[in-house]
Amino acid sequence: MLTFTHRTALVTGAGRGIGKAIAETLARQGVNVICVSKSAESCGAVAAAITAAGGRAKALAVDVADGAAVAKAAETLLAEFPLIDILVNNAGITRDGLLFRMGEADWNDVIATNLSSCFHWTKHLARPMTRARWGRIVNITSVSGLMGNAGQANYSAAKAGMIGLTKSLAREFAGRSVTVNAVAPGFIKTDMTTEFVNNAEASAQILAVVPLKRFGEAADIANMTAYLCSDQAGYVTGQVFTVDGGMAM
Ligand code: NAP
Repeated sequence: MLTFTHRTALVTGAGRGIGKAIAETLARQGVNVICVSKSAESCGAVAAAITAAGGRAKALAVDVADGAAVAKAAETLLAEFPLIDILVNNAGITRDGLLFRMGEADWNDVIATNLSSCFHWTKHLARPMTRARWGRIVNITSVSGLMGNAGQANYSAAKAGMIGLTKSLAREFAGRSVTVNAVAPGFIKTDMTTEFVNNAEASAQILAVVPLKRFGEAADIANMTAYLCSDQAGYVTGQVFTVDGGMAM
């Protein structure tokens, strides 16, 4: 059984999909969860559902691509919660297109939302963790960051960047017992993948390269993430855990 001793977690992109499942899974284990999303409606609904189910949660609408907004939010949060023990950098977007058709805004938006957001949140929240000599940081990357994917140069670059960030920070923080790991999902059923999941031809092509022959559920990613955030995962750092039905083995 996993244990989480009086922990507070901040989960970005907690309004839908994988982030919502991570927030709910941690809350069920007694973790106080700060749910961050871009729109107040989505994180508000998730925090309200957690609270209604007897858990502890707070909603916070922040554009994670905006470094100044993250700094302000972190300052306010740290006044209320002196220690946020667990950070899950999960918020992400896609702006797919082949390179010759990819606009600079598509490149910049994906790098800012998926990669620079991890730099900003970690910079603000990791210092109290290092002082407390306990912390867990989990970055939700992608198999696209490991394998590359035609039409996703921006997304794959951001996700590969998250892996480099994970490994570097794991080394920086190891002396303070703050672990930093990454989870690399394959094809998971969420709003991000609806157009593939609901298209018979695209689904068949994807499932042909997934040995377990099914799309993943958000809970598959949440379960791995919860383990990495638990007391039991204290000797695991700098690793990338692929949860993809065997696709990238
Ligand atoms: P999703 O269903 O599209 O949900 C994305 C979440 O991120 C939403 O809550 C959204 O907020 C939030 N978000 C997006 N941009 C933001 C911003 N600028 N500021 C704050 N929050 C922002 O995505 P998902 O499928 O759950 O994916 C979650 C993570 O897993 C992403 O990093 C994604 O790259 C990664 N991943 C997913 C898959 C997959 O197959 N689904 C595979 C590999 C990796 P709102 O609710 O306010 O819109």
